[in-house]
Amino acid sequence: MKIVDQLARPGVSVSFEVFPPKKETDFPRAEQVVREIASLSPSYLSVTFGAGGGTSPNTVRIAERVQQLGVPALAHLTCVSLTRDQVAAVLDRLKEHGIENVLALRGDIPSGGTFPAPRQYRYASELVREIKERGDFCIGAACYPEGHVECEHKEDDIDHLKAKVDCGCDFLTTQMFFDNNVFYNFLYRILAKGIRIPVVAGIMPVTNSRQIRRICALSGTVLPPRFKAIVDRFSDNPPAMKQAGVAYATEQIIDLIANGVRAVHVYTMNKPDVARKIIENLSEIRKIR
Ligand code: FAD
Repeated sequence: MKIVDQLARPGVSVSFEVFPPKKETDFPRAEQVVREIASLSPSYLSVTFGAGGGTSPNTVRIAERVQQLGVPALAHLTCVSLTRDQVAAVLDRLKEHGIENVLALRGDIPSGGTFPAPRQYRYASELVREIKERGDFCIGAACYPEGHVECEHKEDDIDHLKAKVDCGCDFLTTQMFFDNNVFYNFLYRILAKGIRIPVVAGIMPVTNSRQIRRICALSGTVLPPRFKAIVDRFSDNPPAMKQAGVAYATEQIIDLIANGVRAVHVYTMNKPDVARKIIENLSEIRKIR
């Protein structure tokens, strides 16, 4: 099923994210994770794509498993380390395996070397255009409520986002944020620029302090004082941090739904217990139409 059709259904869409294994020996464990998360009946499951392109065959393989379990799969595709021909080959494989949803991404530019190399895409918008031309895919793309780290001015980032959407995106998924007001503000700003496709809110249940340090260093995400107090107080006690992180994410999701947001993507990253807790916490709320 196309995600854009899924998002048009009544009720709230709750999806989860998994990452594919790097090594063949880790494949059985990854399949088990997918089975457990799929059993929670998410609206869809997204499968990340390794920054260096290294896990691309496994992205397709895991996405295929997801679909075999009766859950729509969203396969991420980053073009930063692939030539146009390699991108075309991945798209052919997705088509062959019946995967019709793609999250079109540029990926983080690797340090050293020349980017873009000849026969490479520079921006995700070019990838979106290419996928659109190739056939009947439902195309998602990334957006950044706090602005993308490389872009000095938020308004420029939204202009680039508008250009990307105009290349053929069907929906957007946000980078994680920990302050819902940042997201509401972003929705107003993109609407003012004429972006009218569905925006899925990305929520990360933070379950350990290492994770939060990495996120902030990479994406420049701001931690509101209320969340910072949680991290400061519980980060050296992993079970307490996990419980508090899931509770904080749940509260964010409930606030979003209460304010009319209809699609939430949870960055549970191969943690079925966290996904299960979130689903349990929303059991009655998800039934509301
Ligand atoms: P783009 O849309 O190309 O934007 C990149 C930068 O270029 C932005 O600063 C933008 O403002 C600027 N820009 C765009 N067009 C122009 C233009 N015409 N002129 C000047 N500047 C321009 N990474 C992975 O490696 N694997 C994953 O699976 C993955 N999944 C992700 C899922 C989501 C929902 C999100 C939000 C991010 C994900 N990422 C993933 C990270 C992502 O690859 C990085 O954030 C990357 O740095 C930007 O990718 P993009 O597709 O947003 O790039």
